[in-house]
Amino acid sequence: LHERITDNETHIQPDVRVLGARQNNLQNVDLSVPRDALVVFTGVSGSGKSSLAFGTLYAESQRRYLESVAPYARRLIDQAGVPDVDSITGMPPAVALQQQRGGQNSRSTVGSITTISSLVRMLFSRAGQYPEHQSMLYAEDFSANTPQGACPQCYGIGRVYEVPEDRMVPDPTKTIRERAIASWPTAWHGHQLRDVLVALGYDVDVPWKDLPKKDRDWILYTDETPHVPVYSRMTLAEAQAAKKAGAEPSYSGTYVGAKRYVLDTFANTKSASMKRKVAQFLTSIPCPACHGKRIKSEALSVTFAGLDIADFSHLPLHELTSLLEKAVEDASRKIPLNAREEEALGQGLHQKTGEEATEPGTPANGLTTEIEPEARKAPPQPTEKLAATSRLATGLIERLRPIIDLGLGYLSLDRMTPTLSGGELQRLRLATQLTSELFGVVYVLDEPSAGLHPQDTRALLGVLDGLKARGNSLFVVEHSIEVMKHADWIVDVGPGAGEHGGRVLYSGEVDGLAHVQESLTRGYLFGDSGLAPHTPRKPEQWIKLSGVSRNNLHNVDVQIPLGILTVVTGVSGSGKSSLVSQCLPQLIGHRLGKTAQVDESPVEGDEILRAEQTPETRGTVEGDFSGIRRVVAIDQKPIGRTPRSNIATYTGLFDHVRRRFADTAEAKRRGYKPGRFSFNVAGGRCPTCEGEGSVMVELLFLPSVYTKCPDCQGTRYQSSTLEILWRGKNVSQILEMSVEEALGFFDGESDIKRSLAALRDAGLGYLRLGQPATELSGGEAQRVKLATELQRAQRGDTLYVLDEPTTGLHCSDADRLISHLQTLVDAGNTVVMVELDMRIIAAADYVIDMGPGAGEEGGQIVAVGTPAEVATSTESASAPFLAAALK
Ligand code: ADP
Ligand code: ADP
Ligand code: ZN
Ligand code: ZN
Repeated sequence: LHERITDNETHIQPDVRVLGARQNNLQNVDLSVPRDALVVFTGVSGSGKSSLAFGTLYAESQRRYLESVAPYARRLIDQAGVPDVDSITGMPPAVALQQQRGGQNSRSTVGSITTISSLVRMLFSRAGQYPEHQSMLYAEDFSANTPQGACPQCYGIGRVYEVPEDRMVPDPTKTIRERAIASWPTAWHGHQLRDVLVALGYDVDVPWKDLPKKDRDWILYTDETPHVPVYSRMTLAEAQAAKKAGAEPSYSGTYVGAKRYVLDTFANTKSASMKRKVAQFLTSIPCPACHGKRIKSEALSVTFAGLDIADFSHLPLHELTSLLEKAVEDASRKIPLNAREEEALGQGLHQKTGEEATEPGTPANGLTTEIEPEARKAPPQPTEKLAATSRLATGLIERLRPIIDLGLGYLSLDRMTPTLSGGELQRLRLATQLTSELFGVVYVLDEPSAGLHPQDTRALLGVLDGLKARGNSLFVVEHSIEVMKHADWIVDVGPGAGEHGGRVLYSGEVDGLAHVQESLTRGYLFGDSGLAPHTPRKPEQWIKLSGVSRNNLHNVDVQIPLGILTVVTGVSGSGKSSLVSQCLPQLIGHRLGKTAQVDESPVEGDEILRAEQTPETRGTVEGDFSGIRRVVAIDQKPIGRTPRSNIATYTGLFDHVRRRFADTAEAKRRGYKPGRFSFNVAGGRCPTCEGEGSVMVELLFLPSVYTKCPDCQGTRYQSSTLEILWRGKNVSQILEMSVEEALGFFDGESDIKRSLAALRDAGLGYLRLGQPATELSGGEAQRVKLATELQRAQRGDTLYVLDEPTTGLHCSDADRLISHLQTLVDAGNTVVMVELDMRIIAAADYVIDMGPGAGEEGGQIVAVGTPAEVATSTESASAPFLAAALK
């Protein structure tokens, strides 16, 4: 039966049909949406938008695709989960661009994830300026991630470890016997090292500082490992006398240099606490061979436009583009006509770019090596080189253009992806798709407007339109009213979260939503802002930051009011996060004499090296600090790195839950203590998956998937642990509950309910208690931190620092969040937050607008004042949008 009405041109035809979707909270949903259109999925957080767009439509498309390419994978896909839906028809192949969740490859950069870096390496290989007599290098010779290209001294990391004397010997007035060498092992091994030194003729009973430098250096830095007979616990004189007298040595011992001990232990220990212990003696310095540029010197001697590849990759992308445009222009002016014709006929260089190996030490295999021109070792001929310049530079410009259009021209190719926000990363992926020339696919996107200033949102809409014009469909989960208004079709899911949602309230062209009473989206799209007009509070106290420098901030002076709600806004890349999330907590924390946040000291090798690469904050702060005792920075960093941490453990409520279980009569009879109900320690948890509930399955050529643990069926626990029930549920069933459900279940248990209510109030009622921290989006992680903070007793002396707290929130959830923040301010606290939603900014007390542009074109304070004052600024890019929101 074909329902398609072809004679009515004005109405969009819904071609993709979903019947009986029941994924997660979806209530047997039927849905029809059009292809070749921008379809926006809206609804409050937890209503089921993602379950529909990602969990059902995308998952099904993915499943079909995998089935068609790899029959053997079917079994694995079945294990990984098939969407719960009766049928889907008319769905084209799908590409999903989701916000990054959890950890990511620490070595990847803007250049590597966009694959632009491989083109740049080709450019340097073929079109670079070589020093005289140097032979031509392969493209891989320019990569720090290949054995051929990596700097041999630092293995391509750019930094090397140092174990400085003042860290190993913090108190040089002590003698070795008094444990001057703090980095030595404790107990018998330390005694042994001391005795060996005595046997080698060192005096361990003089203060460290009085030992000759030569001796100190040997003791700390030697790589020799002498093995000698030892007299236990003697002074140098006693030992020498004993030896002279021919006394029997106590034993034979081996010496290991203090530095070597630290490095060996750091590299080899399996114990995290041991690793952390020795890590305190490590620092890193830029590699002396490559000066932090990570590649070998021959490669660094090749230049393009006067820059080596490291400096080239460090340029902001918009500058890089201008430089390349100039190079193309120059080349085309110089290139002889016949060569240009040859090039046009496709007889010039032929090359194919490969994916960059992003894992440290990944060998470049045959698959990623590009086809080289025949004349590989001879320097390229001038004409050939001009042709290569023109061709490769043009290719690079084509790739860079959409990234710049999406407002990311301030990034550089060498920027590490872990320092990007989720929104930036997603837009980068989106830009990469634009050059992939795919058509006939559905792009499924998760809030592409995240992190975008309203001024930049227009560019995003242009890019989405471009994808659509090329014959693709766009399914977008969004909260931005601007994007909703631009949609061809809107699907509103709700009305509430979790079991209160999961229905499609409306599916059709945008205007039609105006008549759907039940929809919470409707009011924001067609009515007023939703927030009551706010009279700004008057600040009475200020702190003054001066000479603040970090990233693109250079000597910035800014005053921050205390006791009110301040919003810092500005175009993407203007420096909001640098100022608010990085500098402010650090400078004030310093002033208060403590670090703002207790971060665990880094443990992984790479982390120490990178930790010291993060930019430095400079600046001073003055003012009356009597009102601030604490600084709490609530950021979007993940709350845990393993699937074993989750919101129940993070907020502390799981401690109470475990105690409830241990207090049951049956647990007492069996002698089960609270630890028995933990999945973080051995005892009651499933030994196969060690409490994770899932095990990883490696797939050839495909990303590995996690599948349910076969032994505990995903419950994380041994069956004996699960036999203990509290109010009729076992501990695993409790972890499966959403916050909302748990609120009902734990009725009367005030300590548990306090945490749950705080989570619900932060708009997280839909999260499951056991939801792994690695699955939370940056915005969710931030709200979990906020909720954890809100459940504490409020004292009114805290400075809260937040970075785009409304990301991922429906307008109605954002309203609730803001009213919570207002309560905190009413209680005497200070809130300073980065925000881009003008609706929210209009409800602030004070606004600091940054700009004027992004990157080096930003970093300045453009306008300050009440929202109404900033709205009248002629300099501020935010002003017109803010003025509209204040109406
Ligand atoms: P939205 O995208 O509208 O914020 P989701 O589709 O993510 O909402 O979630 C809808 C509901 O499904 C929520 O109650 C959520 O807790 C639940 N949910 C989401 N993911 C899972 C999952 N992997 N397992 C079980 N429940 C889930
Ligand atoms: P906003 O928050 O306004 O989007 P950011 O403060 O994140 O802006 O960025 C301001 C500038 O600082 C940009 O040019 C950005 O690329 C740069 N930047 C931010 N973080 C880092 C970092 N960790 N390393 C290097 N550059 C950074
Ligand atoms: Zn090096
Ligand atoms: Zn298990």
